[in-house]
Amino acid sequence: MRRGFLLNGNGAKTKPTRAVPKPSPTVKDAPSIPEHPTSIILPHSDCASLPPRLLTQAELHEDFLQRLKADRTFSFNLTQIPPTYAHALDQRSLVLCYPGVKDAVLARGVRPMQATLRDWMFTISDVPGAGKGVFAAAAFPRGARVMCERPLFVLPTYIPVNVGERVGPRGMPKRISDVVVGAMEDTARTAFFELHNCKSDDPRDFQGILDTNSLSVGALPGYNGDNAAVFKNLSRVNHSCSPNAFYRWNEDYFCGEIRAARPIAEREEITISYHADVLDKRDQRQHILKANYAFTCACQACRIPVEERKRSDVRRGVLATVNTNAQKHDSDFAAWATDPTAPDDYIVQKYLRYAKMMDEEGLNEPAQWAIISHALAQAYCALKDATNAQMWLESLAEYTMVRNGTGSVWTELAKVPEKLEWWGVRVSSAPKLGSV
Ligand SMILES: [Zn+2]
Repeated sequence: MRRGFLLNGNGAKTKPTRAVPKPSPTVKDAPSIPEHPTSIILPHSDCASLPPRLLTQAELHEDFLQRLKADRTFSFNLTQIPPTYAHALDQRSLVLCYPGVKDAVLARGVRPMQATLRDWMFTISDVPGAGKGVFAAAAFPRGARVMCERPLFVLPTYIPVNVGERVGPRGMPKRISDVVVGAMEDTARTAFFELHNCKSDDPRDFQGILDTNSLSVGALPGYNGDNAAVFKNLSRVNHSCSPNAFYRWNEDYFCGEIRAARPIAEREEITISYHADVLDKRDQRQHILKANYAFTCACQACRIPVEERKRSDVRRGVLATVNTNAQKHDSDFAAWATDPTAPDDYIVQKYLRYAKMMDEEGLNEPAQWAIISHALAQAYCALKDATNAQMWLESLAEYTMVRNGTGSVWTELAKVPEKLEWWGVRVSSAPKLGSV
């Protein structure tokens, strides 16, 4: 049987079948043609497993209208993942999704959480001036999973708003917020309303809490738009412009996870970036964080003395070009490798400069480090420098682990750098760096 709230062909509503029977949801005055979408504020998620491009809100709106045209009863479903019949002791998430998404998620498989739950690995405590924060209860090496948690609920960031329907203060249709709040289990609902709300003092402001605490899920099978998730603990991790950890969605376990982006000491606060691009200049970062999350960032990177700020902005600006140029790196590498007049250490020096700037900025952005590590591993292989090639392949493996939850390919290749296709490809008349 189809679960969730449904709109029939005449625009009248069908009472929802709730996943958890309390309290009663209300669905009122919801004509069937959505007028415009609302959206949920989400921090950046640079997970390598996300599809190349999520559909935009406008494309999703068009897609929704097409589906509605084909099936006038079409709407989102409210369900639970994993379903109640599977893994009786497992944590469950309430999920608002397109029809068919749940089946596609379950067909792909959802692994039970018990084996990977590590509540003892972190503690939640007060942070002066920043509400509550999450602290490491043990030391973690780079790449290690620090937190791992099923969301309280998941919902699409694209939500159609019907003509004349009741909406909350930030545009969220009441038919959505009422049904989601109503269907949450008591403990989940309590946990949700205890989360910080930077948007208002209204303790029942659903979207205020959502916009303050949502993290990205990315696409779910059968739906190529972004989804938002709210977590009991994971949503309490504070922001830093030089964070020590990285959030990613783990589709195997249907959970959010935080991985250490650098070694984290016991009792150190765990931080991630809420901002889309940590390489933005300080003023830009501060402006966007203030606008989206209503706080003035006082992280280590933002607290630097005024005279240092310009240097920091320049460094981050230079590092931003590394990403932009990543596409043409292969052709640059090939040109350098086959040009005996180019200095042997051209690529090495260039990327070691980037690595130094990353260190100076305290940046642990895994995507950025993966590009730098890859370029250095490639260049040292070309120069037949096994020791340095191995070191940067291991670095690449660690940052790939941070981003993807696995780095095994590079871990294996680091043991045999001379087997890589780049090995010895540098044509040079000069003696090679660190030849073996
Ligand atoms: Zn900051």
